[in-house]
Formats: sequence, structure tokens, C-alpha cells
Amino acid sequence: MKKPFIAGNWKMNPPISAGIELAKELKKSLFDFRDVEIVLIPPFTHLYLVKKEIEGTKIKLGAQNMHWEEKGAFTGEISPLMLKEIGCSYVIIGHSERRKYFGENDETVNKKARSALLHGLSPIICIGETLEEREKGITMKVVENQLRASIKGISEEEILKTVIAYEPVWAIGTGRNATPEQAEEVHSFIRKILREIYGIEKSNYVIIIYGGSVTMENSYFLLKMKNVDGFLVGGASLKGDSFKGIVENGLRAWKEKGGEIC
Ligand code: PEP
Repeated sequence: MKKPFIAGNWKMNPPISAGIELAKELKKSLFDFRDVEIVLIPPFTHLYLVKKEIEGTKIKLGAQNMHWEEKGAFTGEISPLMLKEIGCSYVIIGHSERRKYFGENDETVNKKARSALLHGLSPIICIGETLEEREKGITMKVVENQLRASIKGISEEEILKTVIAYEPVWAIGTGRNATPEQAEEVHSFIRKILREIYGIEKSNYVIIIYGGSVTMENSYFLLKMKNVDGFLVGGASLKGDSFKGIVENGLRAWKEKGGEIC
């Protein structure tokens, strides 16, 4: 069974006090949305307090990164055990900003994703092409390579706990979203690869979300696409009303296209 998945990646925003206010506001406005898996992904420093705010609701907590090791001499890193202990259900792995600025690559993404699963966290694995790669016509090749390398060794059971986020790098934080057709083209390709690896039945249940300048306005049209199961939202998740609008419009599109609700 599957339901739409909408996560807000706060990135390195906002200050703690404003983050708690945002969580409070979202708790009030999103309390009733049982038919959508809603995930708040604040900075590490906010996790404990945001968790306290959303306690007793269906809203889930996620982190933006983790190390693959459980503990040790890794200054500045956070372990999967710590994320679990603080109440996270999800963790973003391999966001393009981490690949670009912090040297993440397919190998570290795979290590982290497998470690997350081993420790009971669901990885949200980010993949996507740069503008240059799209213009060269190698989008599918890039996405395929990243996907296959990132999920290497992930079992049939584990892939059902994994979220794949297609995030074209040129659409992240630029205000230029992929069109619904562009998103669907890549999402259906991702589904096809998952089918090859895990079979039809399992792969139909894998959540494939889109990220890149999602707004209240475009969310309905994007989620209307057959293989778009939800969103990873950056900028628009920092305002209560726009994030709520994305959830509302997304759920409407999901119901209209006959998506399953568990
Ligand atoms: C993101 O942070 O993953 C993202 C897609 O950001 P934005 O929605 O701001 O483009």
C-alpha cells in the first residue's frame, strides 16, 4: 500500500526559535492529514525540539545527512544510532548540495543508505542530473548510474523502506521546476530500472518523489503524473501556508489520479 509522501527539507534554515514556531504552525495545520506521509527535515540542532512539537501527530521527523558508522572518531559527524534515538524515521542521503559542496559520491551514498536501513531509518536517496548533463542529452545515463550505484546491495525488503528522490540539480532552489512531463519521463525510467532489479510488484510500491522548486502552484500538476509519488520541498517548506498548500494540492492530485491510500 502506498500514500503520497511530502517532505520539507529546511536545509540550513531557520534559526531554532523560528523553526519551533514553524513546527508549531505545521502541527496545527497538518494535524488531520492522515493520507499523506508528511516529514519535517530540520537541521540537526532543531531535531529534538521539533520532535517534541510534533509528538502525538502523524508527522514524521527526518535528518539531512548522517555518517555510516555507529560511533567513533569522526568529528562533526552524526551517527544513525543518534538519529534513531532522537526520533528520526527518515534521513536524506546524497542531496546534490552535499555532493557538490561536501564531496559525497555514489559510493558514500550507498554506504550511508545501507547503514540507515540497517539501523531502522528510511533513506531518502537523492539523484539527478546537472543542467550541463541534461543539455548533453545524458540525463537518463546519469540517473541510471547514480541509482544503480546508490541502491547496490539493498534487498527487496529494504527497497520498500527506501525513498528515491529525483532532483534535477538545475531545478533546485532556482525557481525553475521540471515540467510534469519531464519529471514523469525520469520517474517512469527510474521505475523501469527498479522493476529490472526487484520485479514488477515490489517496484510499484517504491516511493519515487520529485524535488526542485516545488510550489503550491505546480504541486498539483506534478503529482498528477503517474510515477510521481510526492515531493522533497526546499524553499517552499519554510512557510507554513505554502507547505500546507503543497500537501493539500498534492493529496487532491493523488486522489484524482487514483493513487492508493493505505
Ligand atoms: C531541496 O532542497 O531538495 C529542494 C528541492 O529545494 P527547492 O524546493 O528550494 O528547489
